[in-house]
Amino acid sequence: MMTDYEGHLAQARAKMNYSERPFIVIWEMTQACDLACVHCRACAKPLRHPLELTTTEGEQLIDQVADLHVPVFILSGGDPLKRPDLFTLVEYATMRGVRTSLTPSATPLLTQAAIAELQSCGLARLAVSLDGSTGRSTTPSAASRAPTT
Ligand code: SF4
Repeated sequence: MMTDYEGHLAQARAKMNYSERPFIVIWEMTQACDLACVHCRACAKPLRHPLELTTTEGEQLIDQVADLHVPVFILSGGDPLKRPDLFTLVEYATMRGVRTSLTPSATPLLTQAAIAELQSCGLARLAVSLDGSTGRSTTPSAASRAPTT
């Protein structure tokens, strides 16, 4: 049985004209992350980069995604939970009618309270990467630990 989100994607795919708009937009909204996976392609660092988009600039980006009617909008990083304005931006996207997905890092910042707040802000989907098939292999000590500078 198809979920509401899968139904949304199927409908969007059927109507897509790729010469008019992309099917997916991924905003790597921060370089900051408390992990240091060896496979990280974001060159994540513990602190946010000073040239990240501001909240206002983020809202302007969301406006463009909304105006283009892009079916899939993903907030990624780094770890999006390192941005204190994450909830504001998810709420703004919801207000603009943008179905938003999130790919947070599996750190202590991903609490039940944070997930509940994201849900109340209108987040459509959340995905977490698992780096192995056992609890041991998915812990930061096994999957991460590249030196940070
Ligand atoms: S959790 Fe993601 S962003 Fe963070 S270090 Fe690992 S791969 Fe990079």
